[in-house]
Amino acid sequence: MSVLTLALSKGRIFDETLPLLRAAGIEVLEDPEKSRKLILATNQPDVRVVLVRASDVPTYVQYGGADLGVTGLDTLIEHGANWGGAVAGAGLYTPLDLGIAKCRVSVAVRADFDYASAVRQGARLRVATKYVSIARDFFAAKGVHVDLIKLYGSMELAPLTGLADAIVDLVSTGNTLKANHLVEVERIMDISSRLVVNQAALKLKQAPLRRLIDAFAQATQA
Ligand code: AMP
Repeated sequence: MSVLTLALSKGRIFDETLPLLRAAGIEVLEDPEKSRKLILATNQPDVRVVLVRASDVPTYVQYGGADLGVTGLDTLIEHGANWGGAVAGAGLYTPLDLGIAKCRVSVAVRADFDYASAVRQGARLRVATKYVSIARDFFAAKGVHVDLIKLYGSMELAPLTGLADAIVDLVSTGNTLKANHLVEVERIMDISSRLVVNQAALKLKQAPLRRLIDAFAQATQA
């Protein structure tokens, strides 16, 4: 029996993938918020879940540490940028938009920063972000010169401390921006989570993987 390993990250992606798994007849037997285990069994002896950091999901799937995973489009684009600009270059197959963990990537600035005239006057903008590739492509297409500052978290702090003029970050309700006196000035792209599959596993474990992908597809359309 070949075992299928599904990589998920804790939080929104895990929580919103559970109903899709359930629709495919798969119940995860442990609650990651209550257990420290990183490998979770399911009611299906041939399916297990591994918990990894969100930005590591494509890496696990690429190198076969997991056969498939669920990851945000933002994470996928940033990962693909290191592999010839496309996830296919990394041996990843992305058959499905699961329509979960929806949000958007936006540009935000301090409420008192005049973004429009900074951009119009051709000023060099200092932009802090975790999404360097998305930000670089967006500002290049607009013809705006930017100095990109890579951060790994708490992006909202950057404009408040003078580290940057603007941030590029995920926005969902907008409450985090509001709480930090920042305003969204441009919407770069809409984000949702994708199913990502190891291309070699797709050949070696074709039947069980196909069944799972088809079940996810049906649950997504329901
Ligand atoms: P919100 O206050 O609802 O706009 O959420 C914004 C905060 O949540 C930011 O710190 C984002 O990085 C994070 N966030 C929002 N949506 C997502 C998502 N789908 N996946 C991961 N992080 C998210």
